[in-house]
Amino acid sequence: MKIVVYGLGVSALAALSSLKDKAKSVSVVNAGPIENWQNTALSISCDFSLYSEEDSSKPFLEADYIILSPGIPRDIKYLDKAHRAGVKIISEVEYAFMNSDVPVIAVTGSNGKTTTSTMIADSLKAFGKNVFLGGNIGHAYSEIIGQSFDFAVIELSSFQLESIFTLKPIISVITNITPNHMERYQSFEDYKEAKKNIFKNQDRGSVVITGVDLDTDLNQIQITPLKGFSFKHSKLVGEHNKLNFFCANEVCKQLCPNYSADKFQAFINDFRAPKYRLEFKGEFDGVEFYNDSKSTNIESTLKAVDAFPKAKDLTLIIGGKLRQDNVDEFKVLESKNISQIIAFGESALNLSKVLDVTRFDTLHDVFKSFEKKSNKIILFSPGFPSFDQFKSFEHRGDEFNSLLAKFYNKLIK
Ligand code: ADP
Repeated sequence: MKIVVYGLGVSALAALSSLKDKAKSVSVVNAGPIENWQNTALSISCDFSLYSEEDSSKPFLEADYIILSPGIPRDIKYLDKAHRAGVKIISEVEYAFMNSDVPVIAVTGSNGKTTTSTMIADSLKAFGKNVFLGGNIGHAYSEIIGQSFDFAVIELSSFQLESIFTLKPIISVITNITPNHMERYQSFEDYKEAKKNIFKNQDRGSVVITGVDLDTDLNQIQITPLKGFSFKHSKLVGEHNKLNFFCANEVCKQLCPNYSADKFQAFINDFRAPKYRLEFKGEFDGVEFYNDSKSTNIESTLKAVDAFPKAKDLTLIIGGKLRQDNVDEFKVLESKNISQIIAFGESALNLSKVLDVTRFDTLHDVFKSFEKKSNKIILFSPGFPSFDQFKSFEHRGDEFNSLLAKFYNKLIK
């Protein structure tokens, strides 16, 4: 059996790890000069053959299958010949599914994937299940190979769903579908079609929990805000989280014979937002801090702003890498109930031309401007990509947390 792994991202590395010591011929193809990445590949095993993209034609044509990293589009020119020759090109998640017996609950959508996947995994755990959570979040799905669990909750992006063939969830979840990643798709229809792959292999009558109407004979459960529970003690803010809780509640009802509404209520009370997603960091001297560093567009910043009651005194921090000079879409923030908008980073100047903002260069400068005594909410929901000053939205979120910790001289997790 000849296998080629194309790309050397986190998930491809997990797939490679599972392939070492197997009696298989494994080749790795990656972009850039081999000397730049050979140490990464060889740190897993010395038995892999390494090829640059320019020399990939032979290993691709001889392969039984090619495992594609999610970042690489199927129509990349280096795969043309392999496509024409009928070589099977699969995503890393398909490879993981082929090599694991653990039943899968798969989650996709344009927004809310990570929150919903985490909620589903944690709520199943609250009912005593042993659960793997991975895919497009945290652990690569391939890390499951060789391990046993009751369930695997797998977050799937449209990219990963483009190259699945047998992956068959016992329950699938589509949180919503709105235009996204249009740089990769010819049309919104193409993007929707990729998302709908999530349930294409499911058995008739099995469950798809969905925020959009689907043309399928599966058992469709429409997502609505969860009713019959109290959210008074929930640490999450925002109506959209009632949709996410709805999904977790349905999955638990379907899969946990010991399900009880009381226990799910206790789960709602305890569950904390995944890191950097409108995450409540604490209340210090009467000021509540929220870290929503994951927000890289105006839509998610608006969701975050709308999550707070009108009566609260809200300071919003936005800014980051400019996508284009035009930041007019941020004007909509004027009509919102925000006391002060602070802008920092590369986009601050452009924002100051369309909005009434207080401008700073860095997050550090923003914190220096804070006063300790006030009665308000400080919401960090940048609305722009992080790459002007940070490596990633996680890096940016960590910087916010450490500045907050320094500011209050307290350790905050
Ligand atoms: P994803 O993994 O799809 O990017 P996340 O769970 O990381 O989604 O959430 C990203 C942002 O999307 C959140 O900060 C929130 O503003 C918004 N969001 C979360 N859940 C939903 C939902 N069900 N519908 C719409 N927006 C949501």
